[in-house]
Amino acid sequence: MDSLNYYNGAFQTSLNGGTFPVVNPFDGAVVGSAVDSCPEDIQLAIDSTIAGFEVWKHHTAKERGRLLYRLYESVIEASDELAHIMTLEQGKPLKESRIEVHYAASFIKWYAEEATRISGDILEPNHHNQRIAVLKEPVGPVFIITPWNFPLAMITRKLAPALAAGCSVLVKPSEETPLTAFKFFEILHKVNFPPKVVNFITGNPKLIGETVMNSAGIRKVSFTGSTAVGQLLVVQSAKTMKKLSLELGGHAPLIVFEDADLSKAVQGTLDSKFRNCGQVCIATNRVYVQAGIFDDYVMALKKAVENLKSGSGFEDVDLGPIINQAGFDKIQNQVADALAKGATLDYGGSGSSEGQNHGYFFQPTILSQMKKEMRMMSEETFGPIVPITVFDTEEEAIALANDSPFGLASYFFTENLSRAYRVQGALAYGMVGVNTGKISSEQVPFGGVKLSGYGREGGTYGLEEYLQTKYVCTTL
Ligand code: ADP
Repeated sequence: MDSLNYYNGAFQTSLNGGTFPVVNPFDGAVVGSAVDSCPEDIQLAIDSTIAGFEVWKHHTAKERGRLLYRLYESVIEASDELAHIMTLEQGKPLKESRIEVHYAASFIKWYAEEATRISGDILEPNHHNQRIAVLKEPVGPVFIITPWNFPLAMITRKLAPALAAGCSVLVKPSEETPLTAFKFFEILHKVNFPPKVVNFITGNPKLIGETVMNSAGIRKVSFTGSTAVGQLLVVQSAKTMKKLSLELGGHAPLIVFEDADLSKAVQGTLDSKFRNCGQVCIATNRVYVQAGIFDDYVMALKKAVENLKSGSGFEDVDLGPIINQAGFDKIQNQVADALAKGATLDYGGSGSSEGQNHGYFFQPTILSQMKKEMRMMSEETFGPIVPITVFDTEEEAIALANDSPFGLASYFFTENLSRAYRVQGALAYGMVGVNTGKISSEQVPFGGVKLSGYGREGGTYGLEEYLQTKYVCTTL
């Protein structure tokens, strides 16, 4: 499958003909190509997006919602094909790809329904002949940058509220996974949004990023990716003062208290750690277990992990390959570093190449006796590794959990109601899962604090990110 850019209401090759290959991480096979955009292509896509806003903002919320609903139905109809392309270029098990497509579609449906509920305020004036109105308006043309770990859901979580609010969009997917995004744009094209409202571009991220960030007409950027790139976007946005939503790296702690339900704690660990082979920004990255339940927890987790199967995402597996060499090396180096510094290997521990050519696989791994100075305890791992530390008191667990510059997701397990309230209040994170490892859905405010970024995605909170407030004072 060969992906094309999409702007001015049509699919486009590059003016200089450039393309780059797209690779299946299971076996390294080239499965398609995408456009390597040149500066002129990027400018055309920006101009199209800016022009599209002038059209889209005049559509009524009902019209916007109706088109979004049609898009939702079309995505559901194409869900098998989308899931297939996703597994091909990203590697995740087909069952996970199917779940992602439906999760992605859920944002479109939610915002299709919410578009008509955007409303402002009428305030009481200070003078009898004065009227005060507060209007909610679309923020303008939006630049959307997405990562490879959720090639469709990260697009719809941004695009659907942007379109519902009345913004036009320019989407730049990850260069690892442009094909799912391209297929989605084929669907968007058929749904018949007015020309220039939705736009799509692939290529060198630095070049595209710089060019779009320099454009005064693009008023908002929504980004999911690394903290380093998020920080760069903050700097680049200063000149034109763009509004930003940044969903950046995480380093989620998971705490198991002695009064936890062990089966919930183990299931929560599996859910928050092994989905997408641990390549998830809200994946558990550190586990803290209270001394009295440590042996039982490790034994039960080992038993559960032994059942996980790795392999091609098109077979009946739980874990697919790691996305690329850099991702694989990072995991391997973090595990080696932990073992060199005295960690105990309880299960797994090695990487292998099970693909035909050079697919990157890492065994599900359990490490204990983890110490703060081990790299895995502060750096995001993005792999199927569970590093465990023992603690004694609740205060100690909270201090350990909060000892991170990141603040995205956190999890803890306890059956004690008072403790549940104390700990959820004390955790310095944007999201807290209590007795669960599954926290994502379309209506909730997904997002972080500290180096995990700012802004929220999902629900009414996510819609606010694409609206700006205008106050109107009228003297009669
Ligand atoms: P990861 O390491 O998980 O790939 P990145 O932050 O590098 O995370 O990538 C997330 C998204 O950001 C991708 O779409 C990528 O192409 C894009 N990106 C990377 N560098 C830049 C940049 N300098 N400007 C804008 N986007 C970028």
